[in-house]
Amino acid sequence: MTRGKEITPQLRSRICELHSIGWGARKISRLHSELSLSGIKYTIRKEKDRVNCVTQPRPGRPKKLSEDQRALIRAMVEADPAVKSAYLLEAVGNAITKRSLQRLLNEKGMGLRGPILYENEIRNYLGARVRGVGERLLRMEGADVELCSGRITASNIGDRSIIEAILIQSRGVPPVWPCDCCRNNHFPRMFPTCLHVPHPLIVQGICGNCKASGRASKNCDAMSYFFEMEESQVHLVQTLKSLADDSDAS
Ligand SMILES: [Zn+2]
Ligand SMILES: [Zn+2]
Repeated sequence: MTRGKEITPQLRSRICELHSIGWGARKISRLHSELSLSGIKYTIRKEKDRVNCVTQPRPGRPKKLSEDQRALIRAMVEADPAVKSAYLLEAVGNAITKRSLQRLLNEKGMGLRGPILYENEIRNYLGARVRGVGERLLRMEGADVELCSGRITASNIGDRSIIEAILIQSRGVPPVWPCDCCRNNHFPRMFPTCLHVPHPLIVQGICGNCKASGRASKNCDAMSYFFEMEESQVHLVQTLKSLADDSDAS
């Protein structure tokens, strides 16, 4: 058996993160084929010895953020849990990388964010399994997907509806108004935000949460406001045009 690549702290926390959403060592090793299976298993076993999946820093190790900066980030996240990483990074003068920020946010007291599936993982791991509308989604530009803790498991990640839901979240945008289900928490959500691809041919614009729960596209009203908005825009254009025609005639 060949020796795998050394497991860096970044990879270690990534392994823990994937394990926390139900992925086993074998599944993780399929995604990170550069690592040895035994190394991944060892990392998972040792997970409990670490705090938040991070080996405790050696004393005297330089801190990258001051206490004030950490407090600032904490305050910003508390004020707006959906605050964009870019704003947080800007607030601390881009003193740390996006990855370091994610780790910081996952620390105790700041764990307001769920686990993340990264776009390259979505593309590499799920890409080979998509058919039909999934292929169309895959070709679109995508972003990382935030998950609600514990919703995606080793047993459901292979489901077609889950894969399509992840792709919708990755490629999607917020609807004009979140869908009725997401707004009223009709069922346990898989993703913290309501996102959809506002195109009638992309599973009729259903949102990722409704897709993941197996609802029929017509039962998700994420698109309805979009159509209403389109109609009102058409109406506005017609009104303006008729006003212009009237003034031409006079
Ligand atoms: Zn929704
Ligand atoms: Zn919906």
